[in-house]
Amino acid sequence: MAGHIVGYPRMGPKRELKFALESFWDGKSTAEDLQKVAADLRSSIWKQMADAGIKYIPSNTFSYYDQVLDTTAMLGAVPPRYGWNSGEIGFDIYFSMARGNASLPAMEMTKWFDTNYHFIVPELGPDTKFSYASHKAVSEYKEAKALGIETVPVVIGPVSYLLLSKPAKGVEKSFSPLSLLGKVLPVYKEVLAELKAAGALQIQFDEPTLVMDLGSHQLQAFTEAYSELESSFSGLNVLVQTYFADVPEAAYKTITSLNGVTGFGFDLVRGTKTLDLIKSGFPSGKHLFAGVVDGRNIWANDLASSLCTLKDLEAIVGKGKVVVSTSCSLMHAPVDLVNETKLDNEIKSWLAFAAQKVVEVNALARALAGDKDEAFFSANAAAQSSRKSSPRVTNQEVQKAAAALRGSDHRRATNVTARLDAQQKKLNLPILPTTTIGSFPQTMDLRRARREYKANKISEEEYVNAMREEISKVVKLQEELDIDVLVHGEPERNDMVEYFGEQLSGITFTVNGWVQSYGSRCVKPPIIFGDVSRPKPMTVFWSSMAQSMTSRPMKAMLTGPVTILNWSFVRNDQPRYETCYQIALAIKNEVEDLEAAGIQVIQIDEAALREGLPLRKSEQAFYLDWAVHSFRITNCGVQDTTQIHTHMCYSNFNDIIHSIIDMDADVITIENSRSDEKLLSVFREGVKYGAGIGPGVYDIHSPRIPSTEEIADRINKMLAVLEMNILWVNPDCGLKTRKYAEVKPALTNMVEAAKLLRKQLASAK
Ligand code: GLN
Ligand code: ZN
Repeated sequence: MAGHIVGYPRMGPKRELKFALESFWDGKSTAEDLQKVAADLRSSIWKQMADAGIKYIPSNTFSYYDQVLDTTAMLGAVPPRYGWNSGEIGFDIYFSMARGNASLPAMEMTKWFDTNYHFIVPELGPDTKFSYASHKAVSEYKEAKALGIETVPVVIGPVSYLLLSKPAKGVEKSFSPLSLLGKVLPVYKEVLAELKAAGALQIQFDEPTLVMDLGSHQLQAFTEAYSELESSFSGLNVLVQTYFADVPEAAYKTITSLNGVTGFGFDLVRGTKTLDLIKSGFPSGKHLFAGVVDGRNIWANDLASSLCTLKDLEAIVGKGKVVVSTSCSLMHAPVDLVNETKLDNEIKSWLAFAAQKVVEVNALARALAGDKDEAFFSANAAAQSSRKSSPRVTNQEVQKAAAALRGSDHRRATNVTARLDAQQKKLNLPILPTTTIGSFPQTMDLRRARREYKANKISEEEYVNAMREEISKVVKLQEELDIDVLVHGEPERNDMVEYFGEQLSGITFTVNGWVQSYGSRCVKPPIIFGDVSRPKPMTVFWSSMAQSMTSRPMKAMLTGPVTILNWSFVRNDQPRYETCYQIALAIKNEVEDLEAAGIQVIQIDEAALREGLPLRKSEQAFYLDWAVHSFRITNCGVQDTTQIHTHMCYSNFNDIIHSIIDMDADVITIENSRSDEKLLSVFREGVKYGAGIGPGVYDIHSPRIPSTEEIADRINKMLAVLEMNILWVNPDCGLKTRKYAEVKPALTNMVEAAKLLRKQLASAK
């Protein structure tokens, strides 16, 4: 009987690591304090898994910041600017790479596949030197051993490490990091030798890039790498672990014929096609690590159904050769349901966080070995059926309305050019109209008012008055600044998804369901558990109030369905698009109520549309189709004269530009200033874009105040590729994270720059 866990959250059940890290970074505690918190977390995690009966317990899945950065440290691949030469890499160098230091910025961070976790991208070049510079994998193994716990050290495999890296500054873009394979393998061999000497019996290489669309040259690198390592494997069981999607057929063939590898781990939750591949052939005598427990969602496993799958697999692979596992590291799930004090028992019975998933894995492993815990299985079956039949999950009306959407298209009747004309007649805006993305700085007072209202410490009246005062301040400021399309500033919102999630039916929230996003940062995604509907208007009160304070157009602010979906834990009992259409209908109601209340400009943020793009090209078109359709559903019913804006936080969408156009918004504002070349190049390459567009004209993430000339220069660059009558002038998103002392002068300069250019354009005519 064997259960295996791919990896475990390291933040701790109450985010202990986060607080220890931040206190250390602030100089409020010592390195020893931090190491103590970390060691305590590791030991409690190992003990918990050992107590649960897990046979293959991972070690080295703990990290002070990021597992890819840990690998960079292990390989001594520190970019030269951080000034490291030799010796074991300590906190100083490690955190400088992760977060920058007084004189150097951090290394680049990017999304870990299609998760919301971000890793530190290795920077490599032909001259990169590798040496064994962090013994963390070995010391963690020994640490567990000293506690009497045998673990499986986990390292990122050599090929995935190289494939996830980028050419260092100054290195040709065409440089292939895979050419460094021969240089990294000697370090891996040293690690293996040291692990064996310490008594390790098994090692896990994470090679998640195997689920991507890899070419034969890249697949060949796996064959070479593992052949080269084979001599170091003797005496060790070697697991190659994949996750996050199906393994394509060619990759499946490559991986299952790797030399010296004794086990293969697959994600069987997202990778249902991998099941078919396994059925069509699996190397005899090897172990299959079957990832049937979802590491990326919060639902309790359907144990009966998983057990069926496992038995089927055992019939193919052989008795005793199937190891029950998680679909990926549990670091993408919250830590422990025990800490949820506000969820009711019914919903709780439907859920499993990391700690509960460990128990599920073990229960399945025991059952597969013929030692089924009947009580546990029947409690699970009862919870599954309660979820299926609960009236809190199913809302017939919503189901019907969403079903009615299928098969037909939804878009506004008039084309965008004619709509913009109709809107302009009503709005009468100057060319290069100015606006912002929605939020204004959030002060301590504001946060306190929201908190006290939630805790029933102040009355609704007091709360509304506090918000009204704030909105009126923000409106006056924008009028003084002479901005053309105003916003109310979003003072009543803590978070752009949570704010709507709390008002929609079918969505609930945890108090401690934190998931690491990067470094010490965590997010707490809402849980979409049932059919989604909108019991009553959500924003109309605030937007109408704001509009009543000014004669300028007041832009209402909504979060779009795709973003609500992509930033939540989504139900697994219906397709994602079904859930997305339901949210779209709820937002559509809101859009139409805003219009009826006299709002003429409505922004529907789709900050996260790009993030939901599937990893595999073959699945992308389908996603884009329903995602874009969902957006259009929200606003297909408004009049021509109502102007629909959308906003995206991601400018690198060269590959999906046609889908963005197909969203058919009247105006799109895009985060741009950190990568303007990338965005503008799309249009330089001749993509026709007829709607309004506002690429951010200055970087909101820096406290620096841009000068009028600098902003005017940026706008001029945009005018070189975009028609002046479609260009809007706005900053990037995120004003709420800045101070008024920064926002006021920056926006003053922005408006001045717009006016300067209007003058120049008028006199050039
Ligand atoms: N309207 C939101 C704001 O300005 C948009 C946030 C975002 O783009 N992530 O805060
Ligand atoms: Zn944004």
